[in-house]
Amino acid sequence: MKLHEYQGKELFRSVGLPVPNGEVAGAPDQAAAIAERLGRVVIKAQVHVGGRGKAGGVKVAATPEEARQVAGRILGMDIKGLTVHKVLVEPALDIQTEYYAGIVNDRASKRFILMLSSMGGVDIEDVAHSNPEAIIRLPIDPAYGLLDFVVYQAMRDAGFSGAKSRELGRVLKGLYEALVRYDCLLAEINPLVITGDGQVVVADAKVDIDDNALFRHRDLLPYREESFDNEMDRQATEQGLTYVHLGGDIGVIGNGAGLVMNTLDVVTASGGKPANFLDIGGGAQADQVVKAMTMVLSDSAVKGLIFNIFGGITRCDEVAKGMLEAADQMDIRVPVVVRLAGTQEEAGSELLRGSRYVPVASVQEAAGKIQELIAR
Ligand code: GDP
Ligand code: MN
Repeated sequence: MKLHEYQGKELFRSVGLPVPNGEVAGAPDQAAAIAERLGRVVIKAQVHVGGRGKAGGVKVAATPEEARQVAGRILGMDIKGLTVHKVLVEPALDIQTEYYAGIVNDRASKRFILMLSSMGGVDIEDVAHSNPEAIIRLPIDPAYGLLDFVVYQAMRDAGFSGAKSRELGRVLKGLYEALVRYDCLLAEINPLVITGDGQVVVADAKVDIDDNALFRHRDLLPYREESFDNEMDRQATEQGLTYVHLGGDIGVIGNGAGLVMNTLDVVTASGGKPANFLDIGGGAQADQVVKAMTMVLSDSAVKGLIFNIFGGITRCDEVAKGMLEAADQMDIRVPVVVRLAGTQEEAGSELLRGSRYVPVASVQEAAGKIQELIAR
């Protein structure tokens, strides 16, 4: 679950990191009222993408009236395809130095990696690309946590300021504490700022929480509602489906992540463009199938649909029942091909006989057949 900056900062604050005392606003008047209390402010778009600054989503306002105008311009703005619904209003900083600090889960080394760079403020992906040696990376041994000597080694290698190294070191330790406490896959501060009067300030927060750990963070559930970037993502999560929009025109539904990924590969290899990834999960019942079809077909770009079911715990006849229910309930205007294999395969195929669904024997055949039917 990706967090908005203001949410990430709340978590950081809870472990004692030096976060500006900002407030969130959903309307220009609200932003003006906050600026009335805070004075000169920075107004920041709350969307799940980096580069908000470059896109015009981070602006300083000197007076409450200016805050109202700036917030009015940023709210509703489109940044990389996402609409801004909220802004964070914080006391503006007198920025002297901008560092980058991040900790990320690295699957390859099975470790968290501490990343530091004195080239903060700018897009860190750009730095990683053009100037990779400017980012220091040190693995963190989970058995010991983030030890002081690792922190100091990283800061020395990254060229962090000697005068502020105690405060900067404390921020890194706090960042790790937050990461572990909240089961983050990523916790990032860019920029980590030193101000003109020597304060160390966490000026930005990017946090991604492991969905599989959410069950033990009930306090984070209020963040869930704002974690969805579109209606489809929300629906999928609420209905227990795993849906990823891919943008092509061939809808793909299967049971099991591996099977669906394999189907996407076969479709792509045969020249097709998958519209989505949708895993109905193991043991799916008919109603689950209806929900899945409703979702995929609500994407108007979908010109055809592939069902790839490998019956194990999932019963092919149960899936077929769901497909028939779906055909009763909605007006399906696109061709649908179905591959059923495994548990209750014959019963499932029997149920679908004579229906609008086109049976196929393999994934390869499904990929070819659906393109043929779409082309008709
Ligand atoms: P991002 O572009 O989405 O990563 O958003 P940031 O929070 O990192 O803001 C972008 C840039 O705005 C920062 O790197 C700063 O250089 C700049 N900026 C200017 N004034 C301020 C300020 O008062 N506070 C903050 N947080 N950023 C400021
Ligand atoms: Mn940033």
